[in-house]
Amino acid sequence: MYDVWAEDVIKIEGLEVFAHHGVFPEEKEKGQKFLVNAALHMDARRAGREDALALSTDYGDLCHFITRWMQENTCRLLEAVAERLSEAILLKYQLIAAVDLEIRKPEAPIDLPFGCVSVEVHRGWHRVYLAVGSNIGFREHYIEEGVNALRIHPLICVKKVSQMIRTKPYGGVEQEDFLNGALEIETLLTPEELLEALHRIEDAAGRTREVHWGPRTLDLDILFYDKLVYESDDLTIPHVDLENREFVLEPLREIAPGYRHPVLHRTVEQLAGALAAESEPVTGTQ
Ligand code: ATP
Ligand code: CA
Ligand code: CA
Repeated sequence: MYDVWAEDVIKIEGLEVFAHHGVFPEEKEKGQKFLVNAALHMDARRAGREDALALSTDYGDLCHFITRWMQENTCRLLEAVAERLSEAILLKYQLIAAVDLEIRKPEAPIDLPFGCVSVEVHRGWHRVYLAVGSNIGFREHYIEEGVNALRIHPLICVKKVSQMIRTKPYGGVEQEDFLNGALEIETLLTPEELLEALHRIEDAAGRTREVHWGPRTLDLDILFYDKLVYESDDLTIPHVDLENREFVLEPLREIAPGYRHPVLHRTVEQLAGALAAESEPVTGTQ
């Protein structure tokens, strides 16, 4: 498996492909020359030390894959070629953590003298920690369904699932005990796209939102997204208040004890230890 923080780069420069992308009908009919530059971010250390192709990404194979993809698909925009092709590369080549992909169109139909037009994107896998909780009905079932929905999502890879712990409700609303856990995933989704995906999974579990912190079939929260610190109208990362929630820190400690909170600069282990020291132990933990 790739390392999300990989810093080595394999480069492909000037791969020439005859294909049919473009907005104008004649571009689709006649086709034209495209040039592809790709920088593949991966950990080349083991392949280098052991001199073994099986531990690296075969750039010959990748050049053929890019050529086939460019010829079998037709997009109107270079942006679409770059977006979709980078996703296809990241899904197929498991050792690549991220890719810089530039699609150049040297003979674009522009009525003026010009050198080249191009679009370049940078795309990659992100490591994310999620909290999962349920406190209505058959809670194990809702959590299992939620984890399964994440597993079958094409742009999400579930890496670790903690034990589920039984906890007393938080926030003063009278309700059933919770079942809580944490997950480590890797994803190609942006934070906002991931939040939308989580909401869809919650909706599929019959989640309604009458009372804040009230009873729910399934709750999926984004705790950390790489080392990102992010704030928008509907998303705050790292998740607010996680350092004060034993039901978040205890399961998270099991799967990510060494992860360092990007704002508080303390590890999950340290945060969990500090909170446990100042509060009662979780009741009914199993
Ligand atoms: P809490 O967020 O305090 O645990 P909750 O999970 O019960 O409370 P919800 O009703 O599930 O709250 O979510 C309310 C809104 O919180 C969501 O619609 C979402 O827009 C927003 N939100 C902000 N940051 C996050 C995050 N990191 N993960 C998930 N939702 C978030
Ligand atoms: Ca929550
Ligand atoms: Ca939530």
